[in-house]
Amino acid sequence: MDFKLSEQNKMIQTMARDFADKEIEPIAEEIDLTSKIPADMATKMGSLGLMAPTVPEAYGGPGLSFLDYILIVEQLGYSNIAVETLMGIHSCMAEMIDILGTEEQKKKYLPKCCTGEHLTSIMFTEPETGSDAKVITTSAVESDGGFVVNGTKRFITLAQFDGPGVLFAKDDSGRISTFILEKNGAGYSTEKPWKLMGVHGGLTVDVNMEDVKMAADSRLGEKAQGYRDLLLAISLSKTRLSSRNVGAAQAALDVSVQYSKDRQAKGQPISKLASIQWLIAEMATRVEAARLMCYWTACLKDDGVDIIKQSAMCKLYVAKATDEVADMGIQVHGAYGYCQDYKIERLFRDIRLLRILEGTDEIQRAIVGGYTLL
Ligand SMILES: Cc1cc2nc3c(=O)[nH]c(=O)nc-3n(C[C@H](O)[C@H](O)[C@H](O)COP(=O)(O)OP(=O)(O)OC[C@H]3O[C@@H](n4cnc5c(N)ncnc54)[C@H](O)[C@@H]3O)c2cc1C
Repeated sequence: MDFKLSEQNKMIQTMARDFADKEIEPIAEEIDLTSKIPADMATKMGSLGLMAPTVPEAYGGPGLSFLDYILIVEQLGYSNIAVETLMGIHSCMAEMIDILGTEEQKKKYLPKCCTGEHLTSIMFTEPETGSDAKVITTSAVESDGGFVVNGTKRFITLAQFDGPGVLFAKDDSGRISTFILEKNGAGYSTEKPWKLMGVHGGLTVDVNMEDVKMAADSRLGEKAQGYRDLLLAISLSKTRLSSRNVGAAQAALDVSVQYSKDRQAKGQPISKLASIQWLIAEMATRVEAARLMCYWTACLKDDGVDIIKQSAMCKLYVAKATDEVADMGIQVHGAYGYCQDYKIERLFRDIRLLRILEGTDEIQRAIVGGYTLL
């Protein structure tokens, strides 16, 4: 067992940090206030190979390991979780196309995903469900040698942008199949972005599909295996979401350490108080443990291990631990932590999302409990 990052891992980590320092940090607060991410952010990241890091060179990507990818995500999450979102779910779905797609599908869709010209989405959640795949009502029915899609998808990130959506829908057999749906075609429309508590970037919308036509070769993977595909897709994304929260939690720790050194009480910095030192110690310990969960899960994925249970444990632990880190960070800041002028306030809002996304804490417990009691 080797707990050290390789030289390549460190190089990738540094490259992502440099990018985030130069391109994201200076506008991180503005993005939060305006919910607008500069239009060229995706192509800027694409030019550095950051948009679909695990896609092989044959399809335009840099072909990095999943651990490399997780390291990139952590650095982006440190600066702004909304900007990470632009590449995060996109890159996981590009990987899904790489894993499940035919040679033709990979050649057709992946190069533009790598450059950031196209953005992918995962299209699962519906108004009636985000937790139970059996309740999905969106249908993809065979017709004229292709498929016709009808239904509404809720809270779909990046759905308003051109590119391939990885769609989960009921097929003629009544079971869930996975498809590649080219977004923004005839019959496809999106609503205004949801106004979220945090992760402000205007990236999450509802999608209406009315008789949207898909070609015969739109099926991704095997017929009626959508549920299995969904578990794979979200196991990638849960690990990635956990890593971005580790980045944000590290930022929460860093600003809290700095604040505690600057803020005076009784003629000395509050960092001299045992109560503040305890908070900082609890924060640092949680960040470290959460980071190790992410790296370990990524290493297992790179070793070809099925990470469905591991990624559920990772997200369950990291979501709670980082939530506590953000909460303690507010406490260190006192009243200022409750003010928008301080970075910890944004971090607190952004970090909270993880306990809901890609399956709530309760659903992760059901998965981990189910596997553990097998
Ligand atoms: C910012 C944002 C971005 C998102 N992006 C996407 C996206 O790109 N694509 C996508 O498909 N979805 C996306 N989602 C949807 C998200 O993944 C779901 O909202 C999430 O899985 C929870 O589903 P729900 O809101 O329907 O909760 P519900 O299923 O309605 O759950 C409500 C409550 O009931 C509990 N509950 C429900 N069922 C069970 C059960 N069986 N056992 C125990 N407890 C249960 C839950 O834990 C929760 O506490 C996004 C959501 C947000 C907020």
